[in-house]
Amino acid sequence: MKRDPRKVIFSKLLDRIDILGTISSDPQQLTRIFLSKEMDIASKLLQSWMNNAGLVASVDPMQNVIGSWPTDKAQSPSLHLGSHYDTVINAGKYDGPLGVLLSIAAVEILMLEGYSPKHHINVLAFCDEEGVRFTSTFLGSSYFCGTFDTSFLKHCDSDGQTMRSLLEKRGMDTKSINQDKPLIGPDDIFMEAHIEQGPILEKLDLPTGVVSGIAAQMRIQVTITGETGHAGTTPIQQRKDALTTTAEMILAVEKVFAKNPNSRGTVGHIQNYPNATNAIPGKVEFVIDLRHPVTAGLNHMKDQLFSDLDAIAKRRDIGYKSEVLQFVESITCDHDVQRALSSAVAKNQDKVTTFTSGAGHDTLKIAQTCRTGMLFIRCKDGLSHHPDEYASPEDIEAALYTWVDAIRELDQNFPDKS
Ligand SMILES: [Zn+2]
Repeated sequence: MKRDPRKVIFSKLLDRIDILGTISSDPQQLTRIFLSKEMDIASKLLQSWMNNAGLVASVDPMQNVIGSWPTDKAQSPSLHLGSHYDTVINAGKYDGPLGVLLSIAAVEILMLEGYSPKHHINVLAFCDEEGVRFTSTFLGSSYFCGTFDTSFLKHCDSDGQTMRSLLEKRGMDTKSINQDKPLIGPDDIFMEAHIEQGPILEKLDLPTGVVSGIAAQMRIQVTITGETGHAGTTPIQQRKDALTTTAEMILAVEKVFAKNPNSRGTVGHIQNYPNATNAIPGKVEFVIDLRHPVTAGLNHMKDQLFSDLDAIAKRRDIGYKSEVLQFVESITCDHDVQRALSSAVAKNQDKVTTFTSGAGHDTLKIAQTCRTGMLFIRCKDGLSHHPDEYASPEDIEAALYTWVDAIRELDQNFPDKS
């Protein structure tokens, strides 16, 4: 008996997730970073799978992989699908690659079923979203939008090599970055499928969900300067303990977070000096990560928090300095794209849910250029950036058919830009 061609493509998709999950610079764990040999191997595999699906594959000197649907009949604007294929250190195999492989498989299904697109359709595999090697952000997606931050070119990796020198070694004219007409233009639409990396879909018992937007995010570095002293001899009145001050400030972060619905507030990084058993901590540095669905809400949270931190430092009469290291504004996914995704989800599961992403994605960057949409896929325990990251075959299958429906719907009824 002949197997259902959709099932054949779905089973190839599962195999490819496993295969890409083995392409790693470390045999003990999955690590695949920008401009590495392993990324070249993964890129070659992606190109062969794209060609095999009927797309025309190419790679640029940044290591971005592009699969274009070959057609004479299609017109602009374009519909772009994709995600990133780099990983964090000791990663799971779904974060990023799932969105790329799902898009290749969806296009293969559409081609096999004789679909003729009205618009140009591209599958994009971005070379660097995680920013592990050069502490950068969204290199691949920004390159395609012509919004690449060229200040990253002087960043060094842990071996002291600059991004510029590595790119030039690969034959790239780094001066031409952002000069040519970008692949992703303002009238286009970009859609990304990604594991949720959070617990909402699991709690609702749903395979997929529609993303309404991506939260605003701020990282604030705080430095507390007290006075170090002997743990055994300095009485409480004479102490300026930077660590107890920090403890109180971290609780203030938690308080502000608890007071603002749908916000997040975390202190995950802290350095204590001199960090000795018998010394009063004289200096502490820590980083606050704040998120809120909308930028105005984040700013309000920051103001509340800063006034609390000021009050704590004043009461304790201790030196305190804060610096905003990173600030990313929230984005809203396009309402027409959300509608198309919701109707595709409704065809493949009982209930549709829509929510904001607390994590950043390539979509966040691309939304500065064109209309965007995202589909989230349930992952076990909301776990990500971890080798136990897991999305079930059943959920991936539901996501695949949803993706096929969403692509068809948007291509047929490409919304006018209002
Ligand atoms: Zn990702």
